[in-house]
Amino acid sequence: MNLEEYTGDPAQSVSYLYGSHWKGKDGYRVILGTDTYSHRFGGHDWNVPICENCKTPYHQIFTFDLRDPRFNVVEIDKGQKNELPLISCLNCSSSWERQLYKLEYNKKAISVLENKDTQHWVQDDEDKIHVPLPKYDVMLVKLESNENPVDKKLYYEITNSIGSDYICRILGAPVLMQSPIDIECPVCKNDMIYISGIYSQHYSHENMFPDVEFFLGEMSLYYHLCTNCHIMKVECQGT
Ligand SMILES: [Zn+2]
Ligand SMILES: [Zn+2]
Repeated sequence: MNLEEYTGDPAQSVSYLYGSHWKGKDGYRVILGTDTYSHRFGGHDWNVPICENCKTPYHQIFTFDLRDPRFNVVEIDKGQKNELPLISCLNCSSSWERQLYKLEYNKKAISVLENKDTQHWVQDDEDKIHVPLPKYDVMLVKLESNENPVDKKLYYEITNSIGSDYICRILGAPVLMQSPIDIECPVCKNDMIYISGIYSQHYSHENMFPDVEFFLGEMSLYYHLCTNCHIMKVECQGT
């Protein structure tokens, strides 16, 4: 595992696995429950593309309500652009490599700019995660200061709790499994904003969302947004 502690310039276009630069970053765990804003798991109210490999629609995994002031750091025009969906195909190898999605907020539509799939693997039917996912309300719970990966000890404590305490972290500090992620937008070259990490539930743990066995194998997905181009980049890392 290529663990790197951050020791240099926090303005660099990479996000390191742990280090004091993650101190004081406000992030949230996303769990089943009702929030003041309409954040949700699952559903299919966005127009998502069809996966070229497995020929089913991409999963609309989480969708966040940008009217929530906790999302002010995302800094996009909230006039009509009032939701942020996180998608991927969880049933095939198209999620294993970098994905670039273009968000069209006004149409509530997402298109694929890039999704290289070199493996062409598709999950067995009996183990597939249902498309669309059933819809549940979720709430954001602020992460404590010891839930940011500011040093190696905390980093390992956090990676152990992910998958049994929660399967999604949003904003704040990313908890990466393998290596830093380049946050430069591949189109406009501005820095992208870290949005979320989505993780597999542990095999021994009860479902976080009723009737959904959210097993992603050894995979974690990381979402970064370019607020300039409205491009969502998804990177996959193995645990
Ligand atoms: Zn697929
Ligand atoms: Zn951009």
